[in-house]
Amino acid sequence: MIEDNPNGWLRDRVALVTGGASGLGAAIVRRFVSEGARVGVFDKSPEPLAALSHELGERIVTCAGDVRELADQRGAVAAVEHAFGRLDVMVANAGIWDYNTPLVDLADERIASAFDELFAVNVKGYLLSAKATQEALVRSGGTMIFTISNAGFHADGGGPLYTASKHAVVGLVKQLAYECAPHVRVNAVAPGAIPTDLRGPQALGMEEQSITNTFFKGRRRSAVLPLSDLPSPEDYTGAYVLLASHENASMATGAILNFDGGFAVRGVRQARAGDDLPERFGHPPKSP
Ligand code: NAD
Repeated sequence: MIEDNPNGWLRDRVALVTGGASGLGAAIVRRFVSEGARVGVFDKSPEPLAALSHELGERIVTCAGDVRELADQRGAVAAVEHAFGRLDVMVANAGIWDYNTPLVDLADERIASAFDELFAVNVKGYLLSAKATQEALVRSGGTMIFTISNAGFHADGGGPLYTASKHAVVGLVKQLAYECAPHVRVNAVAPGAIPTDLRGPQALGMEEQSITNTFFKGRRRSAVLPLSDLPSPEDYTGAYVLLASHENASMATGAILNFDGGFAVRGVRQARAGDDLPERFGHPPKSP
């Protein structure tokens, strides 16, 4: 049960979150509500939208649609403005993954359609979210936040399709930050792997696969990253609150928060060098 918080960082703010019915998006919606915001939740899946609506009541408004359609995105903005009177924060977050499919396994007859589908959701969908919300955000002096991934910076967070799509979003964030300044701040969060319901492209027959039941199945904590390899969606929501909060991020635009467990600081000999620090100081060992 989420309590109203009159002192939350996002009190009196109105947000719209795409892909907000599941996983990271749903965690952002819950966190924003707990910080005092009213939130529009846009997603293609009506059932989880209805469940979230039941859970959060009139603090959210839900909109079913496809991020690949500008008309659907404009409809979501209109629904949010109708329900809450304004829009301050847009979180572009809906995405699909390629399950690390390497080039050699992308069959000739599928590679073009898989590229088109994945880029249509992960890149065009984000561009259309920006297009649909730009005017409302200029009016409110608001902010855009994009979900990228460690795959926006490093190899092996996906195959070539996903990795290229998330690198493309890095460019989108920089260009939009430039174009929207000084009226709208444009930033991003690049999370690491999260056990969610992340699906794959229909063109690769992966639309019913879920990252939780495949990549994360049976996975235990290991030492692949300096911090935890098994975070929860909630572990990332603070980054979104920070960027959405004008009080805390008024000078941030074109910034990307790499909240990924430390991909960029993995060592050559081992991922983390500080495992034994508690013992070195005479304390009992701690598991990460
Ligand atoms: P998820 O599948 O749990 O949530 C994604 C949501 O997007 C779903 O509710 C889905 O219905 C919605 N969606 C997908 N295609 C859509 C479309 N065409 N139109 C409207 N809605 C659509 O997955 P998640 O892991 O929470 O993914 C959220 C974001 O986080 C994605 O951008 C993903 O690339 C990114 N990300 C995920 C991970 C991870 O390991 N799960 C890691 C880094 C980044």
